[in-house]
Amino acid sequence: MTAADRIDELRRWIAEADRAYYQLDAPTVPDAEYDRWIRELQALEAAHPALSRPDSPTRRVAGAPSPAFAEVRHAQPMGSLRTVMADDEAAVAAFVERIRKAGGEGEPRFSVEPKIDGLAVSLRYENGLLVQGATRGDGATGEEVTANLRTIRALPLALRLPPGQTPPALLEVRGEVHMPKAAFERYNAQAIARGEKPLANPRNGAAGSLRQLDARISAGRPLAFFAYGVGQVAGLELPPTHSATLRLLGTFGFPLAREIDVATGLEGLLAYHRRIGAARAALPYEIDGVVYKVDDRALHEVLGSTGREPNGSIAHKFPAQEELTVVEGIDVQVGRTGAITPVARLQAVSVGGVTVTNASLHNADQIARLDVRVGDTVVVRRAGDVIPEVLRVLPERRPCRADGSPQHPAFALPAHCPECGSAIERAEDEAVARCSGGLHCPAQRKQALLHFASRRAMNIEGLGERLVEDLVDFGAVKTVVDLYRLSLDDLLAMKRRADARDGVMAETVKSGKIPTRWAENLLGGIDQSRNTTLERLLFALGIREVGEATAKQLARWFGSLDALMAADVEALLAVPDVGPVVSARIHGFFAEPQHRAIIAELRAAGLHWPEGPAQGMAQGPLAGKSVVLTGSLDSFTREVAGAHLEALGAKVVGSVSKKTALLIAGEEAGSKLDKARELGIEVWDEAALIAFLQAQGRLPSV
Ligand code: NAD
Repeated sequence: MTAADRIDELRRWIAEADRAYYQLDAPTVPDAEYDRWIRELQALEAAHPALSRPDSPTRRVAGAPSPAFAEVRHAQPMGSLRTVMADDEAAVAAFVERIRKAGGEGEPRFSVEPKIDGLAVSLRYENGLLVQGATRGDGATGEEVTANLRTIRALPLALRLPPGQTPPALLEVRGEVHMPKAAFERYNAQAIARGEKPLANPRNGAAGSLRQLDARISAGRPLAFFAYGVGQVAGLELPPTHSATLRLLGTFGFPLAREIDVATGLEGLLAYHRRIGAARAALPYEIDGVVYKVDDRALHEVLGSTGREPNGSIAHKFPAQEELTVVEGIDVQVGRTGAITPVARLQAVSVGGVTVTNASLHNADQIARLDVRVGDTVVVRRAGDVIPEVLRVLPERRPCRADGSPQHPAFALPAHCPECGSAIERAEDEAVARCSGGLHCPAQRKQALLHFASRRAMNIEGLGERLVEDLVDFGAVKTVVDLYRLSLDDLLAMKRRADARDGVMAETVKSGKIPTRWAENLLGGIDQSRNTTLERLLFALGIREVGEATAKQLARWFGSLDALMAADVEALLAVPDVGPVVSARIHGFFAEPQHRAIIAELRAAGLHWPEGPAQGMAQGPLAGKSVVLTGSLDSFTREVAGAHLEALGAKVVGSVSKKTALLIAGEEAGSKLDKARELGIEVWDEAALIAFLQAQGRLPSV
C-alpha cells in the first residue's frame, strides 16, 4: 500500500469513527485505536507534506454540529489539547523546557487539573444570567443546548455575587459536562433490565444525554459539570493567573473538580500525574488524563496556539482502559459450586497498564447479548483492579466465509461439563448454569478442596493449587476426608507420577536424594488442621450460602455440630440473619447421607473442636422463639423483661417480622403492634407477661 493510499484509508476510518463518536454518541472503536490512527496519519503527513490537506482530521476539531440543533458561533473558538501518552515523560519535559525558555526566570508554574472525560460546553452569562449554552461542535460552531443544560442541577442559572455587586456584562464559562460513574452504572443496569441498549461509556452517556432533542430526557439522566476556564469576558477584571480565575469561578457558584492544584517544574507535573493516576479508579467520575496549563495568563496568551491546540497547555494521558483484541477461544470454567463461567481467551493485549489474556463473559445471557464468537475483534476494558471484561464486538471485523456468512457459529454453552461430562443445568430463575456432577466432578472437587484448605477455613499450610490439581488428577484424594489418610509414601508416589507426566527430573533426584521436605511439611499442615473450631469447619464444608459470618453465627447459636445437624428448617430460621434460602441450604446439606458420612469420617480421622452450650437454644418454654418487646412497661424496664425472657430460651429481637413468635406490647405501643396484628402474631400485654413469669417462678406471686 502506498503512503497516499494509507493516508486515504486512515482519513476514511477516522471520518467514520468521528461520525459514530460525535454524531451518534456511540463509538465503534476504543479511543486508544482512534488515537493510533491519528498519530500514524500525523507521521505520514509530516513525512509527505505534499499529501497534507487543510481539512485533514489532524488539523481540525471533529464533531460538526448536528443540523438538529440551532447553531452557535463561538465568539472565541473552543480548541482541543495536545496530548502526550502516559509513558512519554520526554514530551512533558520538552513542554516544560519550551515554557521555561519563553517565561524567563525560574521554574514555570502550572495549573494542574484532572482531564474529565465528558464533553466541553460554553456557557454564556449576560448581566449575571445564563442566556445560552453550547457544545464545542467543530470548535468554531457548536450546538445550542441551553434547555438541556438548564436541567443540570449543579449549574448556576445566575452568578452568585455578594449583595450590591454589579454582575459582569458578559462572562463565558467553559467546562466539562460529564456523567458520574454511579449514575452511569445505575442507568445501564436499568437499561439492560428493560432490554434496551446500554451506554458505551460515561463520556458517550453524557454527550448523548446532553444532545437530546427533548430536554425532559436530559433531565432524567443525572449529569454533572466542572468549570475549567473562561471564554469571552466583558466588564470583569480577571485575576492574573489561571488558578485564581478558577477560584473566582468557584465563588460565582461553579463546581470545580477537587483534584485541581498548582505544580512547579517537570517534577511537580510528573508527581501530579502519578498522584491522580493512583486515585483514578476511586474517583466518582471518569478521567482519561491530567491537563497542565501555564498558570500565568499573560504568558499563556503570548505562547499562542498551533492549529486547534494552545501551546501553553497539554493533556498528559493515563494508560487506556479500553483496548482492541481478538477472541482466540471461549472456555468454560467450573467453580466450587459447579457454576459454569464462560471465559474469553484473548490475544494478549495491554490494558490499563496490565497484560490481559482472558476476560470473563459472566454467563450465557451476557454472551447472547454481546454475541461474542471465536475470531471476533472485541473491546476489552480493565479499570482499576476490576477483572477485565468484554464490552462489545466489532461486527465489521468478524471473520467471514466467501459467501459472507460468519466463519464461527454463535456460542452455545456446552450441554455437558467439560471436566466430568455430567449434564449442565440451569434453573429457570437463575442466570448461572451449573454442572450437576457435584463432588464427582474433578473441577468442583479441586475447588472444594482448595476452599477447605484455605486460610480462613481449615488453614492447611502447604496445600496450594498445583498440589490439589495433582492430588485429584492422580486419584490420591477424592473427598476432604482423604486428605487425613495421606501417608508420606502416597505423596512421594504421586509426585513421581506427576514428574514423569511432566517429563521433569529434579536436581536432587538426579543426585540420588529424594526430596521429602515438602511432603513432610504438607502432612504437618494437615495434622495441625485437625485441631480446629466449629465455625472454621462449617465454613470449610462449603455449604452453599454459608460464608464465614453465617458459619460463626451457626457455631455460636447451636454450640455443637450435633445440635446443628439435628436442627430442622424452623430452628434454623430462628438464627439471626438466616433466612429461608439459607436455612433450606443448610438443612439440605446435612440431610444428604453422603455429607453425614463425610462428617463422621472427619471425626474418625481425629478432627476435633471445642463445643459449648447452645446460646440460641437455651432450654425452656420459649426455646427457639423470637420475641419482640415494645411500648413501656410499668413493673420493669424492657431490658429486664428481656433478660427474663432470654433465660426462658427466647431470642429477643428488635423488629417484628414473619419470624416473630410473640410480641409483648406495653403502653403506647405503636407501629410494631400494628404490624404484629397484621401478621397475625401472638400479642401479650404486660399483665399476661407478668402472669407467665410468675407461673415460671421467675417473679414472686402475689
Ligand atoms: P481531547 O479529549 O483529547 O482534549 C480536549 C478536551 O478535553 C476539551 O475539549 C475538554 O472537553 C476536555 N477537558 C477535560 N478536562 C479539561 C480541563 N481541565 N481543561 C481543559 N480541557 C479539558 O480532545 P478532543 O478533540 O475533545 O477529542 C479527541 C479525543 O476524542 C481523541 O483523543 C479520542 O480519544 C476521542 N475520540 C474517539 C473516537 C472514537 O471513535 N473512539 C472518535 C473521535 C474522538
